[in-house]
Parts: sequence; structure tokens; C-alpha cells
Amino acid sequence: MNAPEALPLEFPVFDNSFAALPEAFYTRLLPQPLPDPYVVGVSPEVAELLGLPADFLASPAFAETFAGNQLLPGSAPLAAVYSGHQFGVWAGQLGDGRAHLLGGLRNDRGHWEIQLKGAGRTPYSRGADGRAVLRSSIREYLCSEAMAGLGIPTTRALCVIGADYPVRRESIETAAVVARVAPGFVRFGSFEHWASRDRLVELRQLADYVIDTFRPECRAAANPYAELLADVARRTGELMAHWMAVGFMHGVMNTDNMSILGLTLDYGPFGFMEAFDPGHICNHSDHQGRYAYRNQPHVAQWNLYRLADALLPLIGRPALAKSAVDEHYGTAFEGKFEQLMRAKLGLRSGLDDDEAFIGETFGFLQQHRPDFTLFFRKLSKLPGEVEPARQPAVDAPLRDMFIDRAACDAWLANWRARLAQTPWEDGERQAAMRAANPKYVLRNWLAEVAIRQAKAGDFSEVARLQTCLRNPYAEQPEFEAYAELPPDWASGLAVSCSS
Ligand code: AMP
Ligand code: MG
Repeated sequence: MNAPEALPLEFPVFDNSFAALPEAFYTRLLPQPLPDPYVVGVSPEVAELLGLPADFLASPAFAETFAGNQLLPGSAPLAAVYSGHQFGVWAGQLGDGRAHLLGGLRNDRGHWEIQLKGAGRTPYSRGADGRAVLRSSIREYLCSEAMAGLGIPTTRALCVIGADYPVRRESIETAAVVARVAPGFVRFGSFEHWASRDRLVELRQLADYVIDTFRPECRAAANPYAELLADVARRTGELMAHWMAVGFMHGVMNTDNMSILGLTLDYGPFGFMEAFDPGHICNHSDHQGRYAYRNQPHVAQWNLYRLADALLPLIGRPALAKSAVDEHYGTAFEGKFEQLMRAKLGLRSGLDDDEAFIGETFGFLQQHRPDFTLFFRKLSKLPGEVEPARQPAVDAPLRDMFIDRAACDAWLANWRARLAQTPWEDGERQAAMRAANPKYVLRNWLAEVAIRQAKAGDFSEVARLQTCLRNPYAEQPEFEAYAELPPDWASGLAVSCSS
């Protein structure tokens, strides 16, 4: 391909802060063209975050641009290098094998980098094709935007662009590109890369870049690099609390998929908890269950230790690196998790025994396995007090989820006793609980319906689902069906790493 021509349009100005790092950090290269691209989905919120002009969104240039066929003015595409631990084992160099960073821009809403995922091979592709299939691209697009709707830190997705270009996986599928947007895409593995090669100059340059661009407040600390690690530990702790409270499972928590900014990053074989099972493994390639739901907080900490190892040459003292993780990760995780669980349970303020009650609640859910999302949503509608004679009828919406109704009644009695300790008017409490317990999450079966229709050329379901998931806490009568349990046909759905 010849160098694509710049578009004659008014576009926010790129500053390309990552590209200002020395050349060792990346390879400059153009995306590979994708013939005859078409728009599969666009997120209006992300377009607005970026300040994209409306006429550009509506023009044919939009699909051409985010398929990687033409460049935005000022963009300087590159693929970044990083390494990482995969499934607990050092994997050496990885890098953006199918991602092209188009550049970064700053506007009144922040600093945004735009990255194309699936736009062709790079020097880091390691023999793979540099492409992504429509199925996995729709999943990443929908879930990024669903997580944002839930209020969970995440990379965003501007759009999915498709093409009839064949891509070989288990079978032949078609190619797609997701345009991802985030303040930055630096990973734990970006640091591990330089530390593993004893390249301390680059290690320091990268740490300085992250501090100066995203965390300038770290400069004031006695040891800015230890402060950066503490910051990552806190944000990662809060992120894990969010994942656990909403029932999100990432599926591939390798250190190269961990964001230095504490964002959910690299959506692959993720899942949302349905019938509650803490041992649930959403990635069918994860035979040991390393990334099972209940292991996520522990794995995140293990990953933070790998980051601490990488930053050690900058931090200087092993004890300081270790304490930056130990003192901040657990506190942030537990504090946030308790806060989120109190909100889910409608507890107006905290009491000393809450940890025990939350633990008891998870034990109860584990034993009886109700749908995690529906359980809390239905709980949000129940009154704080109920006459014993009317209890079965009043609590029926929740009780009916259980085969063992007596166990449900016993737990509800404990819940009501706890509510009574911090009284809260029913209407207010129920509204607060609805704002903490989503009605809609991206269940696999919902994504699957949208994907099947998209494969047949109809993208309307992708748009509908995205509209619904934008407001997951609101009652949306037109989307009632999206809150339902998976239908029978979906019970065998399996999600693998293949993407
Ligand atoms: P992931 O498991 O998707 O986070 O990817 C791990 C590594 O494999 C990263 O370096 C990716 O860029 C790379 N990778 C995954 N799929 C492909 C592909 N189809 N082509 C090139 N590189 C890929
Ligand atoms: Mg990855």
C-alpha cells in the first residue's frame, strides 16, 4: 500500500505522546488495508469523548479510517513491544501482534489514545495473522462499552469495522477491526520487557513517561517509582473489587493483559457469572482454572509482584517494592469490595460484622447457585420488613429462584435483621440498590445472538444490545428479554482464546 492520504477534515489534534518515546519501544508501521470495510457498530459516547465531527461519523471515510485504510491527519501509527507472564510462566517477548496505535490526542475530556486491534501483522505477530475475527471483535466492543456503562474502569471501543475478508481459525471466519480508546495501553508486561533484558535506561524512560503523562502526583513522593507501584496496586485492587462485585471474569489475566492504569484490558474469553459458582472458569483453554472467578484477586496480586520485580531496579529496595504492593493492594481491594457489597445489599452504613455477613451471603449463593445478577436485582425490590404470614408471597420473586425455599427464607431473615440495624426508608434503599445492582450484563447468550445476526449481515442487534447496556441499572421495558436467564440452547456455549 502507498502511504494513505490524510483526510481533509477537521479532527482533534494528535500529540502522539507514546510515539515521543525512543524507537526501542515500538515499530512504526502502517495498518494493513482491509478491502471494502463496513461499519458494524459505533459507540456514540466514545465518538463524543474524542470530539469526532458528526459528518465524519456518517461518511464512508469513517469505515476506511478505522479499518486502517487511510490515516487521520497527524496520526503516526506504531506497534508497541512488551513481554509478559502467561498462565504463570514467563513467555518472553510478545508485543502488539495485531494492534496499531494510531496516536494520542488531548482534549477537554482528557488524553486519549486510539488503537486498531486486528489491523494486520506487525513485527510482534510471532507467525500469527495479525487479524481478529468478527465474533471476538463484537464481544470486545460490546463488553468495553458495557463495562463503562456499569461504571467499571475499562478501555473503551469507538467502533467495530467488518469486512468479508477471510480469516482462518477453527473454521474460516471474516475479519474485523475494533478501534479501542484509552488514556494509555501500557501494560505490566511493558515494564517486564525491559527489566528482563537489564535495559535500565528504557525501564526508567517508560516509568518516567507513565508518571509524567498519567500520574504526575507521584513525583512529589520520596520514591516516585514506589509511589507509581503503589498507585497501580490501589487501582488494580479497586478494579478486582468491581469485577468480583459484578461477577465479571476476565479469563486471561496474564501480565501482558494488565493495564498500568488499572483498566480492564484485552477482552477475550471473558464472562459474567450466571448460576453462582466461585470456581467458574470462563476460558475453556484455562484447564487448571488459574483464572477462575474466585482466583482473580489473588492472581492480580501475583501479577503486581511481577510488576514489583520489574520496577525493583528503579525502586532500589526489595522491601519497599514489596510493601508498595502489600500495603496498598489488599486495603484497596477489601475496602472497595466491602463498599460495593454493602451497596448491593442495601446496607446504609457499615458495621463491624459486615464482612462476616458478606461472607455468609457468598456461602449461601455458592450452595444454592442462583443467577448472580438476577439475585441482587430481585433483592433490590423487596421490602425491609414483612409480616410473617405474607412473607412467602411478598418474597416470591426472589424465593422462586431457589429450590430450597427454607434456605432462602433463612438468609432473607438475616438480611432483614441486618437492614434493621441501619434503618433506611424502603423507597430510598431500593433506589440505591437498583443503582448498585445492574439489571443488564453482557451475558454470553446475548452476545451470541448479536454475533449470529451480524454474521448474517444484520448489525441491528449489536446496536440494540449496546443501547441497552449503556444504562444497565435502569429499567428498560423494551429490553426486558435481555435480563432473562440463558435459554436452553445457550447452555453449551463455550468461549475459547481463539479470536
Ligand atoms: P492475547 O492472548 O489476545 O492477549 O494475545 C497475546 C499475544 O498474542 C499478544 O502479543 C497478541 O498481540 C498476540 N496475538 C494474539 N492473536 C494474534 C493474531 N491473530 N495475530 C498476531 N498476534 C496475535
Ligand atoms: Mg493481550
